[in-house]
Amino acid sequence: MRAYNFNAGPAAIPLEVLERAQKELVNFNNTGMSVMELSHRSKDYEDVHNRANALLRELLGIPDSYEVLFLQGGASLQFSMIPMNFLKENETAHYILTGSWSEKALKEAKALGETRIIASSKDSNYSHIPTDYSLDGIEDGAYLHITSNNTIYGTQWQDYPTSPIPLIADMSSDILCKEIDVEKFSMIYAGAQKNLGPSGVTVVIAKKDFLARAQSNVPTILKYSTHADNKSLYNTPPTFAIYMLSLVLEWAKAQGGIKAIQKNNEEKAGYIYAAIDDSEGFYKAHATQDSRSLMNITFTLPNEELTKKFLAEAKERHFIGLAGHRSVGGCRASTYNAVPKEACMALAEFMNEFRNQNK
Ligand code: PMP
Repeated sequence: MRAYNFNAGPAAIPLEVLERAQKELVNFNNTGMSVMELSHRSKDYEDVHNRANALLRELLGIPDSYEVLFLQGGASLQFSMIPMNFLKENETAHYILTGSWSEKALKEAKALGETRIIASSKDSNYSHIPTDYSLDGIEDGAYLHITSNNTIYGTQWQDYPTSPIPLIADMSSDILCKEIDVEKFSMIYAGAQKNLGPSGVTVVIAKKDFLARAQSNVPTILKYSTHADNKSLYNTPPTFAIYMLSLVLEWAKAQGGIKAIQKNNEEKAGYIYAAIDDSEGFYKAHATQDSRSLMNITFTLPNEELTKKFLAEAKERHFIGLAGHRSVGGCRASTYNAVPKEACMALAEFMNEFRNQNK
């Protein structure tokens, strides 16, 4: 039996994708070997690599003026690579803080140059996306960095800032969950292990003319240009993770693309938010109404004892991954693209039942 998997990441992968990978595991495309055993310089692997790139471009509507790169080191390495490449002496990198991952991104830039915090919602334990900020006077800045979805706090940007300088977004936990205008961004990056597949590959989407601005005093492997010039094959890429990514993207396309996925995600999150909103205060959402995430739904129960009981009963019913992050407490349901609607409906039903029995 498959669990109702609400893990925050690594997270649910579509069953169809897992079954296809299983079918192809020992003999991929009649090569007599697994995709893991193929040379990364072989035609068979090259086709997988190029297909993942093309599908991502198609699904997100990425223009030709952007590179799509497959890197390693997780989103965390991007926290460092971005300032290494783009934060020059005498320039300032600007950050909007909406959670722990933005803080971590800022920390790496701080170690390398001048930084400025444009806005932060830390005072409210990151319960909302700030709206009272001004981008006046940042015209000389190196870039503006945001975290589009805050995995731990359950908040998500609804309207991205219109930035006079290159806008960079960490979309690790909401890439592909809704339609976006890629051209608002100079760079988007995301670790794969939430909406794109298994961990091990990080997707970077970057404007070519932004990449051209990078400084040169960066180690070869940490330069974006190295990977762009070599089609993400400068060194051995995580071939199996990229293969899985290609299958997830094929699955996303078969769902009807991002528009259909977004509609489904809105419906899925809607069931769980309704269980919170209709609970007469038994469940309380951590995120304010205007900042609620489609991907990570964070909520608390009246006390610690009920939270423990809720989590224990949920586990008995095969709901997995519902404990909140220690910095928020309570519960969190991550409803990434691959989490089926039935799982969200079942969770909402369980929440209603639990409230009725324990209020
Ligand atoms: N950014 C966000 C928004 C995340 O949710 C995570 C992982 N939970 C990271 C960055 C870090 O990603 P990685 O573990 O791939 O370095």
